Amino acid sequence: RADGHQAPPPVVHYHMNDLTTSDTSAERGERVLILTPMMNFYQGYWENLMKLQYPHEFISLGFILPKTSEGNAATVALQEAVAKTQSGPVDDRFASVTILRQDFDPPLQSQDEKERHKIENQKARREAMGRARNSLLFTTLGPSTSWVLWLDADIVETPTTLIEDLTRHDKPVLVPNCYQRFLNPETNEMDVRPYDYNSWMESDVGLELASNMGPDEILLEGYAELATYRSLLAWMASTDGIEYDPNRVVELDGVGGTALMVKADVHRDGAMFPAFPFYHMVETEGFAKMAKRLGYTCWGLPDYFVYHYNE
Ligand code: GDP
Ligand code: MN
Repeated sequence: RADGHQAPPPVVHYHMNDLTTSDTSAERGERVLILTPMMNFYQGYWENLMKLQYPHEFISLGFILPKTSEGNAATVALQEAVAKTQSGPVDDRFASVTILRQDFDPPLQSQDEKERHKIENQKARREAMGRARNSLLFTTLGPSTSWVLWLDADIVETPTTLIEDLTRHDKPVLVPNCYQRFLNPETNEMDVRPYDYNSWMESDVGLELASNMGPDEILLEGYAELATYRSLLAWMASTDGIEYDPNRVVELDGVGGTALMVKADVHRDGAMFPAFPFYHMVETEGFAKMAKRLGYTCWGLPDYFVYHYNE
């Protein structure tokens, strides 16, 4: 303007009814927010992310890292990777990147796989993870986000078409099967085994156990001392008798978060990761229950795999 004053910033209108979540997400330019709580930075995670075929211009990234020495080191490595990618070839660049530091205390003690999977350590850990996920979600979810893809920092291998493959099913909540590659000592060859046991169908025993629990007690999956007899997605992968079909879907009651596709509207309706017992569940399993209480359905892909880093 001639008088040198800047025009006031315009009000931005978002037409949320036009925001789609569809089975043709890439063609429609639906925006995907990839959220990762990160304790360690793995090059394999970043390389896998870079290889995702979905147009990077429609992908935003969000991270939350703890304020521990490990978290500090991971933040430095992550910032380096981000700087390199965002100044590299235009097609590789992501729409935006947000890095948060988790400031609530006490920070989680760094634990190795064996230590953190001990049943007595799980409740505090899972509740802290719930708070970290919520904090990340509520600071990054934008008015134009169609999908939220939760992806743990130690998922080092997925199909390059992960986003297209998961959104194509057009489900409110969808979880692939999370396995781990390992050197099988019996055959001395590389092999695969289930990693994440948090995706399951409820059982009568599980319901019965929960009904006898105190209000602050939670049910955990994958522990012999707490046999729930739930049907685990981990064990639903095709075997000799069942034909392999990566598109096969099963309805679930609990989901894990190592890789998890959620329609942004499920979160907008209020489904989050309870850091308190919700129907005797916390974090991602509590999230599945909350989504269900809001009227959504949760699904799993028994024959579609992502792979967890092997410590
Ligand atoms: P597990 O594989 O189920 O044993 O769980 P992890 O320890 O791998 O944690 C799940 C995800 O959260 C991974 O991406 C970790 O890097 C990340 N993570 C673990 N602990 C913390 C924490 O204290 N704060 C944050 N922000 N992320 C964490
Ligand atoms: Mn992990």
